[in-house]
Amino acid sequence: MTDSVTLLGTKGGPAIRPGTPMPTATLLRMAGQVIVVDAGLGVTRALCDAGVALTGIDAILITHLHSDHYLELGPLLHTAWTAGLKRPVPVWGPAGLADYWRGFLASMDFDISLRIRDEGRPDLAALAKFHTLTEKGLTLGPITVRAMKNVHPPIEESFALRLDGPAASIALSGDTAAIDAMATFAKGCDLLVHEAMLTAGIDALCARVGNGDDRLKRHLERSHTPAAEAGRIAVNAGVKALALNHLIPVDDPDFTKAHWLAEVRQHWQGPLHIGYDGLTIPLT
Ligand SMILES: [Zn+2]
Ligand SMILES: [Zn+2]
Repeated sequence: MTDSVTLLGTKGGPAIRPGTPMPTATLLRMAGQVIVVDAGLGVTRALCDAGVALTGIDAILITHLHSDHYLELGPLLHTAWTAGLKRPVPVWGPAGLADYWRGFLASMDFDISLRIRDEGRPDLAALAKFHTLTEKGLTLGPITVRAMKNVHPPIEESFALRLDGPAASIALSGDTAAIDAMATFAKGCDLLVHEAMLTAGIDALCARVGNGDDRLKRHLERSHTPAAEAGRIAVNAGVKALALNHLIPVDDPDFTKAHWLAEVRQHWQGPLHIGYDGLTIPLT
């Protein structure tokens, strides 16, 4: 199977409404491995829809502890377990993710204990091996995974990821403000998946779902990347293709694909994918 990325969930932020895409999750198929990056709501269903057996996941990486990136991590592992998972899955994420896992296990103790006793299943707790993600990075078989702290205040432990395999390389910005370091980090990749926001859509979004003051607007502006800037970063990185995900806003009928294109094309003239749930992009 050729290396590819599938955007399982492309919406920025945790809330869903009728007709919206799902929060962030990304499937990487590289060097024969199945790697899940982020586990927002809907990740389990989306993996199945992408043809991935839940028992076939080789590793899970979580970029940061905003709920739209890990709300469904526990249910994903639990469902893989009920689907027959028997080998441990390494999970890499910021410090604190293991606490979430312990809390999830505690919240589901009745069911988990029951299934171990009643169905003879292995201990779920032992099937996820949690590791703290740092800028030291890691390796997954022949794939080198690099992690770089991005800029996503007020969260400090928030990472961009770069995976270099034998046949392809991909960089994922994670949730971040536009930073020049991203271009260096993603240098020469086959694909950069970058988060993006339509600045013009932010006021309308905040009026619709905000809390009445300007905190949400200020959070979005200092913690996320205008689409035009994602295009500029792709140019500076010299990547072969650019895909946008974590789209904000994503459910405002006043903003369409044409608006995204108009922003990104100010800088980036190369291959461009405006992300949608289920989009698969070959890496080679
Ligand atoms: Zn997010
Ligand atoms: Zn975030």
